Amino acid sequence: MTVSPRPTADASSYEALRRQHILDLLARIPGSIRHVNWPVERIREERQQLLRSLVHVAKEKSAWHHERLKNVDADSITEADLGKLPVMTKADLMANFDQIITDKSLTLEKVNAHVSSLREDRYLLDNYHVIASGGTSGFRGVYVYNWDEWATCILSLRHAFLPVNPFLWRLLSFRPIGKIFVNSRTKKKKERTPQSKAGSVMVFADISSHMSYAIASSVGYAFIDQGYPATLSTREIVDRLNSAQPDSLSAYPSILHQLALEAKAGRLHITPKKISSGAEPLLPHIRDAVHDTWGLPVTNFWVTSEGGCLSWSCGKSEGMHLNEDLQIVEPVDENGRPVPLGVKSSKIYLTNLYNHTLPLIRYEITDQVTFLADEACACGSNLRRIGDIEGRLEDMFTYEGGTRVHPVVFDSAFEHYPNVIEYQVRQTEHGVAISLLTNGPVAVEQVERDVSEYLEKSGLHNPEVSVRIVDRIERTPGAAKLKRFVPLVTA
Ligand SMILES: [Zn+2]
Repeated sequence: MTVSPRPTADASSYEALRRQHILDLLARIPGSIRHVNWPVERIREERQQLLRSLVHVAKEKSAWHHERLKNVDADSITEADLGKLPVMTKADLMANFDQIITDKSLTLEKVNAHVSSLREDRYLLDNYHVIASGGTSGFRGVYVYNWDEWATCILSLRHAFLPVNPFLWRLLSFRPIGKIFVNSRTKKKKERTPQSKAGSVMVFADISSHMSYAIASSVGYAFIDQGYPATLSTREIVDRLNSAQPDSLSAYPSILHQLALEAKAGRLHITPKKISSGAEPLLPHIRDAVHDTWGLPVTNFWVTSEGGCLSWSCGKSEGMHLNEDLQIVEPVDENGRPVPLGVKSSKIYLTNLYNHTLPLIRYEITDQVTFLADEACACGSNLRRIGDIEGRLEDMFTYEGGTRVHPVVFDSAFEHYPNVIEYQVRQTEHGVAISLLTNGPVAVEQVERDVSEYLEKSGLHNPEVSVRIVDRIERTPGAAKLKRFVPLVTA
């Protein structure tokens, strides 16, 4: 793993740090791309070496891992031994965060305070990026990447950096960096005028601690022309896209689906040459709708807060390539037993080989994955392939008059409330009723105002929002996961 020079003391401003980070990133692109075409043996050697290094650091610098891995020899462990190691969950991580994180200048309190203060992308202690995620469980986790790890995390989006990709040349040209993203909360930044023709547009989460926002903000200006918050109304996104006429469009699958429907209905008139998606399952009917509408395949990225991009589609054959040189993904059934090739897993255990700041070893993520048969890919990469991630999309809320509200609206609203550990949003006729599970004080009226503001932006006028703090959130009988968004069922 490359070790970059830490930022110099005089590079104190965010902008200076960020520029230095982009330069570091540029230096690493050729090496990162070379890994994509490594022979199988080289990939295996790399994984073994990185696994040993990770276990070594975890045992030495994390009291929690030290205890749990006391019988594991970091110098001789192989991937075949991984199944004997204990599994960790998000609840484990959050309950033992200060004993897991290896930089003792960081605590959960400091990390949470940083997330709460974010209004746009920022470094913590001029070194760290912090990603917060409710994930599909609704239970918040926070993940920390140091300078080097953040660069690796961004480079895990391999397909975006392949040499044939024009993005690379945009990045290499290091063109003057303009602020593209509007922070709709502060309105400090000026967006490029939507009337200008855009090469690439990204519809992203309007959440400073979200992986897509943080990546797009920290280096994205180099390769994205315009970014629109997913919290905007569909109509507003359509208007902006009609003006921008992008060649490349990147968005949540659920938003791509909406946009395909808008195009079919004759309201959206764009002719993109490339469409990519991530952050949600790319369901077959969405892939088909995009193909029927624009005649294009969707380049899919499986991106997690815990490990960055775990897999990406090369477009040459079915499925996505796993970044086997950066992470180990174990597909398992609901009891944690390995599932064979071709069988859909209930969840995965992720071992993030490159993050030594917050060692995640066999970390449970409830994404369902199918490993494909080990066949050579036409693109030449030996990285193993998996099928598109399965799962279900959270329901959008549809209101009278056709206004639709995406669930990211609520993630955005709760970003600045670290004491909210779980929530459930029920659609009502003219708004929402929200239940909060908390572990500290939360200003309920302020939450109501924030949520109302986001709903207004999504096109729902004068929304009625009620928030209450509860002792527990009812789960649907038989369902393992909390249903976070419950649409109104009309008779
Ligand atoms: Zn391929």
